Parts: sequence; C-alpha cells; structure tokens
Amino acid sequence: LRESLVQSEKMAAVGTLVAGLSHELNNPLGVILGFAQAQLMRPTLDNASRTAFTLIETHTQRCARLVRTLLDFSRRSGPARERIEVGRMLERVQELAIGQAQRGEVQLKIIEPPADLPGLEANVPEMESALLNLVGNALDATPPGGTVSMGAHVIPAGNEMELFVTDTGSGMAPDVRQRMFDPFFTTKPVGQGTGLGLSITRSIVESHGGRIDVETALGAGTTVRLWFPLAPVQPTEVSA
Ligand code: ADP
Repeated sequence: LRESLVQSEKMAAVGTLVAGLSHELNNPLGVILGFAQAQLMRPTLDNASRTAFTLIETHTQRCARLVRTLLDFSRRSGPARERIEVGRMLERVQELAIGQAQRGEVQLKIIEPPADLPGLEANVPEMESALLNLVGNALDATPPGGTVSMGAHVIPAGNEMELFVTDTGSGMAPDVRQRMFDPFFTTKPVGQGTGLGLSITRSIVESHGGRIDVETALGAGTTVRLWFPLAPVQPTEVSA
C-alpha cells in the first residue's frame, strides 16, 4: 500500500509539471530532428557523419515519443464518466491494435463477453488507453504464431467486473515483475518503450476505483486482470 501511495504521488507530480515542460520540449526537439534528417538526405554525407546523425535522429525520436506520452497523460480529461458497453470497447481496442498484431504475426482475439454483461461507468478515452497499453505490451512480448486475447465478465462472488488481457508471450522474470509499475522502467530497446505504460494504466484503473493484478510465468505468458466495482460505492457518513 505504501509503495502504491508513493507511486501515485509520483504520478501526480509528473502530471502537474509535464504539460508546460512538454510544450517547451516539443519545438526544440522538432528543430533538432529536422536538421538531422536534412543532413541524412545529403547524398555526399560521409559515413561517420551518417552514423552520428542517425543516432541523433533515433534518440530525438525517442524523446519526442516520451513527450507525447507525457502530454497525453497530462491531458487526461478528468472525472467525466459515461456508461460504456464493454464489448464495443474491446472491439475498438482490437481495431486500434490490429496493425501491430499483424506486423508481429500474432493473433489478437476477443473472448466474446456474456450477452448479459452490464455496462461500466467509466471515462472512455482513459479506459481505452489503459487497455491499449496492456494489449500493446502483450503484443510486444508475444513471438510470431502466438495469441493475445482479451475479454470481460462479472466475477461470480463479488459485485465486480473483470477485464483481462492474456498473452502467450515471454512472461516476466521476477526482477521485471517487481519493477514493472515503476515509472520509466522498461526492458524495451531504445526508442520503443517509455516505461510509462503500466504506471499510467494503474493510475487510470485506480482513479476508476479499480484494481490491477498481473500473473506471469517466464516463458509461458502473462495475464493482466483489471477489476472494477459494478455498483457505485456509497460514500459513508463520517461522524465528527
Ligand atoms: P514499456 O511498455 O514502455 O516498456 P510499461 O510500463 O508498459 O512500459 O512496461 C514495463 C515493462 O514491463 C516492459 O518493458 C516489459 O519488460 C514488462 N511487461 C509489461 N507487460 C508485459 C507482458 N505482457 N509480457 C512481458 N513483459 C511485460
């Protein structure tokens, strides 16, 4: 619990600083990238300079990507909630991720939710980006021929809805499993990971009153489960 408090404080601090900072960084990054790319277009460029400008290009793109992720996070639209149809949301997430799945030769499927699945009170763009982060991670971890599935159902015992994303990918070693929610922790190559996906996802889930749990086995795959309360929690009167 303490750990998760420190984590959400960190994310709140990131949120307030980031909007201004990202704007300030966007323009200079664009200028650096533009000049590097202009140099790379020159046919007479010698090899040493080509290597240098390629490095500048790669790392500037990496910074730009980080800035974009942080900007998206800081623009989170607040508490606006609507009743969403979970099956439709899963289909939208599938549409958004299908290109990445096809490039990686991974099957991306939806386990058809039960017909009587209730709606979920949620912020649509936030919830979609939370799921998209999980599906993106699952696809990244899954070799060609593997499968990523997502679905939703109501937990029999409790008044909760479970959403899950499961993959037949690499799974996580214990040290990765332990650090996966840390902001900026990533095992992905330069330019591919920001290390913010899971911390942002957890922050979105918790702001919806939900919980997140990850079950992983090295070499066998990973399942991420999100649980959301179905009935709005009644605020309890606190007597003075
Ligand atoms: P990023 O995707 O940018 O690396 P995340 O916070 O989303 O950042 O994930 C952090 C790390 O957790 C990843 O770099 C990866 O090592 C690990 N991870 C997350 N999801 C999975 C998964 N489904 N299978 C294996 N490893 C995962």
